[in-house]
Amino acid sequence: MEYTDQHLDELQCATLATLTNYQKPDAYGALSMPVYHCASYEFATAKEMSDVFCGRVLDPEYSRVMNPTVTFFENRVKLLTGAANVFAFNCGMAAISNVLFALASQGKNIVTSSHLFGNTVSFLRNTLGNLGVETREINLLDREAVENAVDENTCAVFLEIITNPQMEVADLSMLAEVAHAKNVPLVADTTLIPFTQFDGKALGIDAQVVSSTKYISGGATSLGGLVIDYGTFPVINRRIRYELLFNLGGYMTPHAAYMQTVGLETLEARYKVHASNALELAKRLQNVPEIKRVNYTGLPDNPFHEIARKQFGETSGAMLTIDLEDKASALNFINNLKVVHRASNLFDNRSLAIHPASTIFGPFSGSQRRAMDVLDTTIRLSIGLENIDDIFNDIVQAVRAK
Ligand SMILES: *Cc1c(COP(=O)(O)O)cnc(C)c1O
Repeated sequence: MEYTDQHLDELQCATLATLTNYQKPDAYGALSMPVYHCASYEFATAKEMSDVFCGRVLDPEYSRVMNPTVTFFENRVKLLTGAANVFAFNCGMAAISNVLFALASQGKNIVTSSHLFGNTVSFLRNTLGNLGVETREINLLDREAVENAVDENTCAVFLEIITNPQMEVADLSMLAEVAHAKNVPLVADTTLIPFTQFDGKALGIDAQVVSSTKYISGGATSLGGLVIDYGTFPVINRRIRYELLFNLGGYMTPHAAYMQTVGLETLEARYKVHASNALELAKRLQNVPEIKRVNYTGLPDNPFHEIARKQFGETSGAMLTIDLEDKASALNFINNLKVVHRASNLFDNRSLAIHPASTIFGPFSGSQRRAMDVLDTTIRLSIGLENIDDIFNDIVQAVRAK
């Protein structure tokens, strides 16, 4: 069935996530987009071949840069976000590195904070640093600091919308105002809240990057990353589409695109349970005396509660942190979990727990961790779809286990 724009305009996200036009009619009327496991594509004439290779016609030529199953997934994300361009990569880090490679060059700088995913910190400081791109880590909550850091050589203001594991939420409209006044794009890693829950463009974001390994994949089925580009800085589309996909080779595979397309179809239903379980758990954990702090923006007394609601709506995602008495208690807690799994990753169907200081941030020194506000007492929890009483009871028994 062919859907018109007018038809699609009337529908809500949960419905749109099941409807996307195929790029070409399917010979068998397949209800799910077929998985095109092919490396290259045959052309009828020399002219058609030349048109595609020279970019005059957008059609697949080679699956390193375009594949029908991946394009279908990208089109579905486009439909859900209203983006101008969507690029799917083989993981979140590939999406982050591609968008920043598209914007950065020697002598430029990126304004960000030290509150970032560990590999993103390393990519900025080491990979881009070695190529002569400066990273300016500042407090993104402080408007004056942002105004002072952004200059004529700034190529991006980059942040995570809820930082992990600090759970800090910056004011996106303030950042967009300061960045745009100097013609600098605002690039946001929005992995922590599904992009169906807020309007990235209205918040002033120029490009979102998402680890679709998390909410989108439908239960940790596959790795994936997305660049969701609103078209406000055309260099992003130009360089990724015509240069970086070819040269860096980070494009999503067709099988992952298939699984992530199916993941999108259940996103709304899954997310409701993730978010309501996380909120209920956070409330209950506040009353457990062994837990010294519960950090979740969904709690009314959280310092970022209001700004998070204003920007991202009623729900607050499914990641929260708890702090225990000391490092030994935190490690003992991890060792005693029976329902919640000892694993990295976020937004699996299962609940997961990790001690960030000794794992994800383990390679950093103690003083580097302190500078990033990664504490030895903190446990990060990703709340899954299990029964809420079972999750709560497991956490309480693990906190109390000797
Ligand atoms: C997981 C994650 C990434 C990296 O994504 P991968 O798919 O693992 O490469 C980047 N940013 C955030 C916020 C993440 O949680």
